[in-house]
Amino acid sequence: METEVKADGGARRSPDSRADCVLCGAGFTLKGRLMIGEVFDCPHCGKPLEIADLDPLAIEPFARIDEE
Ligand SMILES: [Zn+2]
Repeated sequence: METEVKADGGARRSPDSRADCVLCGAGFTLKGRLMIGEVFDCPHCGKPLEIADLDPLAIEPFARIDEE
């Protein structure tokens, strides 16, 4: 079974979220609406990170799938 949480204009507002890079340990702020599975680059080390969970916020290194 797949559980997907969709943000559809709910009452909860989270203008920005504090997070720590799991690769370099630097703290930073994520602004705007976040989605599980969203990939972004760490502002400090530039490595790709993925949002694994929102409540609580969990960040994981983004595993690029290279199959050749
Ligand atoms: Zn980093």
